[in-house]
Amino acid sequence: MVLAAPQLTDALNHAKIEGVKPFVVYPSPQGVLISQEIIETLARQDHVIIFCGHYEGIDERFVEKYVDLEVSIGDCVLTGGEIPAMLIVDAMSRLVPGVVGKGKAVIEDSFYRGMLDNPNYTRPAEWEDMKVPEVLMSGNDKAVSQWRRKVAVSRTLTRRPELLSRASISEYISEGVSLAVFVGSENVNLSGLSELCKAFNILRPYVIAHTRELRGMMKELCPEAKILGNPEKLKEFLDTNALIVKVFGGAINNSLHSLEVKRRCIEHDGAVMFVFSDDENFLESLRLGENKVISGYIYEKDFEVPLNVKIGIALDRLLGKR
Ligand code: SAM
Repeated sequence: MVLAAPQLTDALNHAKIEGVKPFVVYPSPQGVLISQEIIETLARQDHVIIFCGHYEGIDERFVEKYVDLEVSIGDCVLTGGEIPAMLIVDAMSRLVPGVVGKGKAVIEDSFYRGMLDNPNYTRPAEWEDMKVPEVLMSGNDKAVSQWRRKVAVSRTLTRRPELLSRASISEYISEGVSLAVFVGSENVNLSGLSELCKAFNILRPYVIAHTRELRGMMKELCPEAKILGNPEKLKEFLDTNALIVKVFGGAINNSLHSLEVKRRCIEHDGAVMFVFSDDENFLESLRLGENKVISGYIYEKDFEVPLNVKIGIALDRLLGKR
């Protein structure tokens, strides 16, 4: 038995609100796998109508003509679409302000930022010889949030490493992210760098230029940056435990794919600094003291756009939410 198109169309017309375009969802084992991103998309629609199938499903012509999204809740077959519809409505409603008492809790849950949540505990402090982790009882907010970040990272990396590609990782980097740009020529464009840093929650941009003229120019282009004359100077501002990521265009020897760079950044227990330059030979030869240095390639070799655009793309790829 299959649900017939004319009756489904009557139902659709009945459910429509005048003047509002409906977004029609059909839960089906053959649909795209449900995800938090799909739920966020649905939560933003003016009117969502869900068609629950039964028996063999619904007439394919109705799907072709009216369904905007066919979505599966997983690789198993249920008797009907009612439970998937409830699942969708429940997940959507958590995103409506006020539904969950503490709005921040929604953001901290698994998947919202692309990562798994940390494990949770409550009273009693000891149960069946098992204790709540000591740090959670310390009252030290900084230590607690560092612990939560660390376990969320290790859970994500061991249980669902594929999530990392879409995760927004900057808040999981324990000592924050900074950025340094080495400028070799007058033609380099760094306008908007301070705004980019703010948008990606980056601590402070450093700009290193050898000549006084270049430094003057860079100060105008990027007033909030710390302008330095010598790469060696950067060491003064670097914690020795900082991980340095040199960002290249195109794969060079020993360089890492952007996803691998992301993984190394959140695996690293300390600060991270991304380093860019308009002169890749200079970047390659750069040594920064005792710090651990990795090279990552983010965009294609012959990607001819100004350096500030490349930096924006790299930051979005490494720190932005997919
Ligand atoms: N003949 C269909 C097939 O093999 O693809 C299965 C139909 S199923 C028995 C009946 C209805 O349950 C479907 O039309 C759909 O609405 C719902 N359903 C079953 N499994 C589902 C899943 N994994 N995700 C979403 N909806 C599902």
